[in-house]
Amino acid sequence: MSDPSIKSVCVFCGASVGKDPAFRAAAEDLGRRLAENGIRLVFGAGHVGMMGTVADAVLAGGGEAIGVIPQFLRDRELAHEGLTELHVVDSMHTRKRMMFDLSDAFVALPGGLGTLEEVFEMVTWRQLGRHQKPIVLVSTNAYWQPFDKLVDCVVSNDFAHGDTTTYFTTVPDPSAAIDYLLNG
Ligand code: AMP
Repeated sequence: MSDPSIKSVCVFCGASVGKDPAFRAAAEDLGRRLAENGIRLVFGAGHVGMMGTVADAVLAGGGEAIGVIPQFLRDRELAHEGLTELHVVDSMHTRKRMMFDLSDAFVALPGGLGTLEEVFEMVTWRQLGRHQKPIVLVSTNAYWQPFDKLVDCVVSNDFAHGDTTTYFTTVPDPSAAIDYLLNG
């Protein structure tokens, strides 16, 4: 049975495309699959990098893409002006809160420090019982392996409960991410 509660997914990913062409291919693949499955994209509204690639693929597939960007980043990150909805907000905190509120789940593709921060925040909010939304890491060419290892290290040193490793799921590709979100 597919899960009808997953209607909007927040995608965290790099504002650049990274070194390995497989990263960009994964962004395209995820965007296409979101559109195919009628799942709305919520993201940081950038026109460039992995962010722009996911959004372009969603829109090309006839899907909906909702961007949320603070005013001060609108020019620096080149906000995508062709989105279904573009919310320009006052701060990073408002952006993150709105992305959280608009989404039923979170998917992270490879990305930089901003992406890491966003993923960790959603994991820690889950740890604090603020939400129960799924968090899925798409580990293209094992990109998220060090993240898994770091969390294992935190748990094995008794700085977090063992349950922490169940708050997110690492999958190899976008197909597995969509399958996890819809079928568990
Ligand atoms: P990056 O992964 O560093 O390429 O950044 C990806 C996205 O995360 C960009 O839209 C950044 O604006 C955003 N970002 C950067 N720093 C933060 C932060 N501290 N909290 C939330 N998002 C951030």
